[in-house]
Amino acid sequence: MAKAEKLKTYRKKRDFTKTAEPAGHKVKPSTTGRQFVIQEHAASRLHWDFRLEIEGVLVSWAVPKGPSMDPKEKRLAVQTEDHPLDYASFEGTIPLGEYGGGTVMVWDRGKYYNLKVEADGSEVSMAQSLKNGRIEIWLEGKKLRGSFALIKTRLAGKQPQWLLIKTKDALAKPGSDILEEKPKSAMTGRSMEEITLDSMKT
Ligand code: MN
Repeated sequence: MAKAEKLKTYRKKRDFTKTAEPAGHKVKPSTTGRQFVIQEHAASRLHWDFRLEIEGVLVSWAVPKGPSMDPKEKRLAVQTEDHPLDYASFEGTIPLGEYGGGTVMVWDRGKYYNLKVEADGSEVSMAQSLKNGRIEIWLEGKKLRGSFALIKTRLAGKQPQWLLIKTKDALAKPGSDILEEKPKSAMTGRSMEEITLDSMKT
């Protein structure tokens, strides 16, 4: 699918004369082609948006409970519309009454590595893993580090329901709550309150 086609739903949901979110025209891929971002989003319901750069867009999931470093925690991740790449640095507020109205924070950001390989050792492309409903990656963020999996479930819903899981490795932290430990923006160091207040000043 062409990039413009992929972003159709994203653009249809938003009025860019009212929201400061990027429309995503003419955005080049990142140098690695593999960035990830997690945005805390205080919309009508608080959630964390998990986004992976795959073939020119940010493939996105809304995670109501947010990510965890505990392999026992399987967090529901509802796939949402693809977002433009420059959304990865969007932090601020979306006007109330607009789609997704509320404060957005860049909670974590970094690059990822694809861990999914065939039996013969060749890499399974991220686009293929997405189709297969089984993504295995290594995250190198400021907060999240180590191996993670996104597994598509058969749960019924309007949008595909996945699970975000910290897979077992030396970096896993059973019993920890990374959201509580590291609540501030990975980009600006601000809290959700500070982002909200700052946007009221301008
Ligand atoms: Mn959201």
